[in-house]
Amino acid sequence: METILSIKNLDKKYSRVHAVNNLSFDIKKGNVYGILGPNGSGKSTTLGIILNVVNKNSGEFSWFDGSLSTHEALKKVGAIIERPNFYPYMSAVQNLKLICKIKDVPYDKIEEKLKLVNLYERRDSKFKTYSLGMKQRLAIASALLNDPEVLILDEPTNGLDPQGIHEIREIIRKIAKNGTTILLASHLLDEVERVCSHVVVIRNGVKLYDGRVDNMIASNGVIEVKTDGDKEKLVNVLKNHFDVAAVNVDDDLVIARLENEILASEINAYLFKNGISVSHLVRRKLSLEQQFLQLTNNN
Ligand code: ADP
Ligand code: MG
Repeated sequence: METILSIKNLDKKYSRVHAVNNLSFDIKKGNVYGILGPNGSGKSTTLGIILNVVNKNSGEFSWFDGSLSTHEALKKVGAIIERPNFYPYMSAVQNLKLICKIKDVPYDKIEEKLKLVNLYERRDSKFKTYSLGMKQRLAIASALLNDPEVLILDEPTNGLDPQGIHEIREIIRKIAKNGTTILLASHLLDEVERVCSHVVVIRNGVKLYDGRVDNMIASNGVIEVKTDGDKEKLVNVLKNHFDVAAVNVDDDLVIARLENEILASEINAYLFKNGISVSHLVRRKLSLEQQFLQLTNNN
């Protein structure tokens, strides 16, 4: 799969604050990436660096396999990293016409993009009459005018009401479906869970997880087992199960980390068949939220 952006050992300090700490990850074409982390974890700084508006201290990043200069590459990137700002007394269409002139894009893109963000009906209303959600959607339309390959969004739903949040997330999904690669920063776990296929979790500028969102959800499914019989045998039998990735012992509790989706009852039957009777058997699946809290608090 084509690499859109590659970040290697990126580092940024603001005097004593280590905002981005040896960060590396890749972005592949067609996926939706979330940079997820609590406030102050270095998300905006990272986006600023790859968009050439913040200077890095060390490390590298390259767009489109380094085939273009950063200046040329950024012409294929649409980004919204600040509060949307347009001329308040001009309509959506008038504002977008100005952007078309700046970006050298034909005016007929305006209708397409306004329809995409559900603002076509309100195209002639002045910007100052728009709600915050509408302003944000206009910013998305504006960033998409030149059909960028990548769309970058920093906390796209901050400050919006639930309806506004829902609309923005729907639009992001629609844009992704059209094949645009998306990178969005968010401190909201459920946002990333709903919108993104991939996630990079960071805290204090340090990467804690990088991979598919669904792998992150699946990665910590465990089954806890106790037996009054032979604990060693229980451990070994569990280790031999195809769907068990690892087995740990915590006092009298034996914990099997699961590699695949499997029911507690299946494990129970398997153990019984192997001559082990259990006194306790519980399947625990940590929610993404629990895992996120664990990742961001305990490391
Ligand atoms: P996030 O977007 O994840 O909330 P930021 O990248 O904005 O995080 O900030 C990361 C850290 O860097 C924070 O501790 C923040 O206070 C600090 N920081 C960000 N920008 C500046 C700046 N211009 N000057 C000094 N410190 C900054
Ligand atoms: Mg930020």
